[in-house]
Amino acid sequence: MTDQSPNGSEFDIIKRYFMPLAAGDKAALGLLDDAAVLDVPQGYKLVVTTDALVAGVHFLENLSPADIAYKVVGVNLSDLAAMGASPRAVFLAAQFPKNTPETWIAAFAQGLGAALSGSGATLLGGDTVTTPGPMAFTLTALGFAPLRKVLTRSGAKVGDDVYVTGTIGDGALGLLCLTGKLPADAFLAKRYARPEARFVFAQALAEHMFASACVDISDGLAADVGHICEASNVAATLEAQRVPLSDSARDLVKADKTLLKTVLTGGDDYELAFTAAPKNASSIEALAVEKGLRVTRIGTILEGAPKTRVLDEIGRPMDLGHGGYVHL
Ligand SMILES: [Mg+2]
Repeated sequence: MTDQSPNGSEFDIIKRYFMPLAAGDKAALGLLDDAAVLDVPQGYKLVVTTDALVAGVHFLENLSPADIAYKVVGVNLSDLAAMGASPRAVFLAAQFPKNTPETWIAAFAQGLGAALSGSGATLLGGDTVTTPGPMAFTLTALGFAPLRKVLTRSGAKVGDDVYVTGTIGDGALGLLCLTGKLPADAFLAKRYARPEARFVFAQALAEHMFASACVDISDGLAADVGHICEASNVAATLEAQRVPLSDSARDLVKADKTLLKTVLTGGDDYELAFTAAPKNASSIEALAVEKGLRVTRIGTILEGAPKTRVLDEIGRPMDLGHGGYVHL
């Protein structure tokens, strides 16, 4: 390969900034070998996901290097959470534009370490290259989920309740704040830049088999619940007034009702949407309290063509238009 890294050789960059993140994890073999070698614990399945994030398309270019690292990690660990898997390892392919300062890479690597700490996942390998195009990061995340307890999108049953974790719409509103379309708001900006994957709650949900289907909300609440409907061949009805909002989001929606549509369809939430039989309601509530995470019932699964309907405060179906994630 003739790729030249931004400063010095690719190996220097890896050695200086990324190798320390793998230190102490035997599976990385010190990042000195051609590949990592992992054991899958007995009774578990290996769950693998990958996501490419391109500057100016999937994240704002002017975010700090640490914020971008948190975003890249959060998006991927959220996909593991959606399956009820506990994170074990990540692999990073980083494309840096030629003029990227080494200080930027150092801050990014530090952010990567911070974002992974406490998740159970270690950086076990990857590659860095320079590109004439925009900065881009492809992270592959590996996790373990207990056999026969992996959460999927396809198990929702007629009569199930629909739940979400956390608050919805903060990421999409945060993006509008960061791009000057709404007033600056540090809370919403952080929710956009540093999504917190809900894998701790998801693992417990999977372990207890309380949920019938699960998805993480990246494309927007309506669209992602729609993904459960498609995979499960059911319909969903959600009540807009039940959708949990942060104080910042509630204030914005109160001032401008049209922002409710942004909340319901905007994406970038990285919360979980899941379905569960009504008999599990009190167990789910207790689990949410135990894990210190807000969990809210927002709707019901019904018979019908795979579709999500969102009802307004007087029970009329809302017109959400296109209803899916729109890139920057
Ligand atoms: Mg997902």
